[in-house]
Amino acid sequence: MMAARTLFEKIWQRHVIVSRGADEALLAVDSHFVAEGSFHAFGALAKDGRRVRKPRQVFGSPDHFVPTLGREQGLAGMGDAESRGLIEYLAHNAREYGFDHFGIDDARQGILHVIGPELGISQPGLMITCGDSHTSTHGAVGAFALGIGASQNKQVLATQCLWQKRPKTMRIGVEGALGPCVTAKDVILAIIAKIGVSGAVGHVIEYAGGVLRAMTMEERMTVCNMSIEAGARSGMVAPDDTTFAYLHGRPYAPQGGHWEEALAYWRTLPSDAGAKFDREVTLDASALEPMVTWGTLPEHAIAVTGSVPDPACASSADERAQWDEAIRYIGLAPGTPLAGIEIDRVFIGSCTNGRIEDLRAAAAVLRGGKAAIRAWVSPGSTTVKRQAEAEGLDRVFREAGCEWRAAGCSSCVAMNGDGVGAGERCASTSNRNFEGRQGKGSRTHLMSPAMAAAAALTGRITDVRKLAS
Ligand code: SF4
Repeated sequence: MMAARTLFEKIWQRHVIVSRGADEALLAVDSHFVAEGSFHAFGALAKDGRRVRKPRQVFGSPDHFVPTLGREQGLAGMGDAESRGLIEYLAHNAREYGFDHFGIDDARQGILHVIGPELGISQPGLMITCGDSHTSTHGAVGAFALGIGASQNKQVLATQCLWQKRPKTMRIGVEGALGPCVTAKDVILAIIAKIGVSGAVGHVIEYAGGVLRAMTMEERMTVCNMSIEAGARSGMVAPDDTTFAYLHGRPYAPQGGHWEEALAYWRTLPSDAGAKFDREVTLDASALEPMVTWGTLPEHAIAVTGSVPDPACASSADERAQWDEAIRYIGLAPGTPLAGIEIDRVFIGSCTNGRIEDLRAAAAVLRGGKAAIRAWVSPGSTTVKRQAEAEGLDRVFREAGCEWRAAGCSSCVAMNGDGVGAGERCASTSNRNFEGRQGKGSRTHLMSPAMAAAAALTGRITDVRKLAS
């Protein structure tokens, strides 16, 4: 009888072409995503005189460098010649090699980690790669989704295969009932605060437990998205009826009789009872409050009711030095209550929280109010933008004084110029609060869309539960 296997082990074993020793294998890649930042890989491919091996399994869209204003002009509206060149080069490669490309003018353009699931390209049981860290997002559908480097990007384009060291497995069980205004973003920030930014190094995380089972697909994507911020190779959630209902009818999902065949396979994927994980972690979600980061790492997350910690209370000399540096950069004194800290800017968007449910949550807080500070909203995809406009969410944002932008990575990393100024403090729904992440000298406080909307209304970090009551 076959030993009980985890979801990850089932996907891994199905994709092994050849093994090298006990821990390394050449894996077949099902779907590979490329953005304009893949120019190194395409350049190296061309230099070697090679072609894309399986173009029907490659999908492209520009996301990092696309402007979020003036998009009606398409490429012609892009003032930055270098960024325009990258976007043109991706479009050129799509034509040259014949892969599907959702370009700057395409109604399906968006952040790759938003459009993959949205179009039904990301499916249970697949091995998915992309030259971007947050590829783990696609694991929410029950896939093994891996961020890879530039040379691996070229390898996948040329061969549709990838050598990988086999990661260890970790199950994070989240049980309990979420309190009011506590969201998937708060759950993942609490997990990272608990295990640290190195807590899952070398592992693939399977998120499990009643809280994950009750989450929508978009909430699961928010959780899986930030797996990499705990050092994990990837994150995943076992596919279930929520997954199947989400994927059904999406353009790239199996159609007709193929749907039933796929469904039969997908139902075999969840971890078997008794399957062993290398590490198990549990989190009681009942105790969670809305979370905010106070420092410069995602693990620097605490409840909004808390205060900036005192480095004297750090658990080691290394941690004390790291907290000292984070506090110096972020410009807050130890002991400062988080609620009430003045904010200069708000960013609602990114592959973590730029989906329609995120925009609905932010709009619900902003409806009928006025933003006290500059706030902008950039949907994760052009499809999300259209949906939001169909629901009138754009009007809610505009009437509240927020800027309603086009789809892309925008202020998450500010490669397109949507930067936060030096010394400015930004309430952001993105996934990284590193030094300078949103622009040189910028200070980032990560939080959920509802919390970011509350910060927009008051100009301060605000416990959204107080606005809601
Ligand atoms: S939204 Fe941010 S984290 Fe996501 S792909 Fe873009 S730059 Fe990376």
